[in-house]
Amino acid sequence: MSAYDRNNVFARILRGELPCKKVYEDEFALAFHDIHPLAPVHVLVIPKGEYVSQADFCAQASDALVVGFWRAVARVANELGLEAEGYRIVANHGPNGGQLVFHFHVHVFGGRPMSHRMGNMPRPGQQE
Ligand code: 5GP
Repeated sequence: MSAYDRNNVFARILRGELPCKKVYEDEFALAFHDIHPLAPVHVLVIPKGEYVSQADFCAQASDALVVGFWRAVARVANELGLEAEGYRIVANHGPNGGQLVFHFHVHVFGGRPMSHRMGNMPRPGQQE
């Protein structure tokens, strides 16, 4: 996978150059609503650091950041009230994963039952 592009859209959101509908932020992560929601709740959680993908994040990030990031994902789901009814988390990696933005991120989907078609998620902007 290619090197981190500091001008990718999530890097620009992290730097405050582009707006987002923020739902959570701490020292490790920022969470905001996806611009093309595929569920009643569709939030993206991104780590504070320059990581292209899940693989890059796990290989390069400090233990503190990996733990802090995943705790933030759980906290976002909890604070959005998704725990009781359930939710889905997805991280797309590379071309076959359908990754479009090359700053590692986790999708949090909730607010309705999820499809069982886990291997065939709709593309951003498409309805399931
Ligand atoms: P992936 O890279 O995992 O395929 O998905 C990238 C996600 O980022 C898509 O769901 C897309 O709708 C979302 N996205 C792309 N550009 C923006 C943006 O400028 N703002 C927000 N909030 N979401 C975006």
